[in-house]
Amino acid sequence: MKKGKIVVFSAPSGSGKSTLITALRKRIQNLHFSVSATSRAPRGEEVDGVDYFFLSPDEFRKKIAAGEFLEYEEVYPDKYYGTLKEQVEKQLDKGQNVVLDIDVKGALSVKKIYGKQALLLFIQPPSIEVLRERLIKRGTDTPEVIESRIDKAAYELSFAKQFDKTVINDVLEIAKEETFIIVKAFLTIE
Ligand code: 5GP
Repeated sequence: MKKGKIVVFSAPSGSGKSTLITALRKRIQNLHFSVSATSRAPRGEEVDGVDYFFLSPDEFRKKIAAGEFLEYEEVYPDKYYGTLKEQVEKQLDKGQNVVLDIDVKGALSVKKIYGKQALLLFIQPPSIEVLRERLIKRGTDTPEVIESRIDKAAYELSFAKQFDKTVINDVLEIAKEETFIIVKAFLTIE
């Protein structure tokens, strides 16, 4: 059976990445989420094995030592996130296309391993100012957290040119359409 392909999404927090991934998966049938592992605690309604595999720092370290990760990063201080080899390979072997929602460095590691079998998509806010307004409107973060997210966003934006494609999420409906066209074309070509 033909192996599946990998679509990687990375974006600064507040870029609308999750909304775009959800919309895309409604339009493209054979596109499956890979569940990452993390050492952070579950938030709100998150379910173990669905949103993430929630591991203790010790369990996470053991998996690093055992070489079970395709890639892993310390995305926030002391908070590790990693893509499990077994998860992704099982899906690809079944001919399933896999979507990863991971940070910029993790995305570049995946590209190194999978080359043309992986598409790196960077979702960009129209500007840092717009991003700041969105984070303020969302109302979930304190001003300090918002500023730290903005600093991180500026750093992440510097990686955009290393991605295969960038979608600027200014008008949501347009960004959805652009994402669909790019991913559909990638999955269709040999
Ligand atoms: P959150 O804690 O909000 O769920 O995720 C924080 C960040 O970690 C997001 O930018 C997300 O893309 C990234 N992330 C989630 N899973 C992985 C992973 O397996 N590997 C890497 N490198 N980053 C991840």
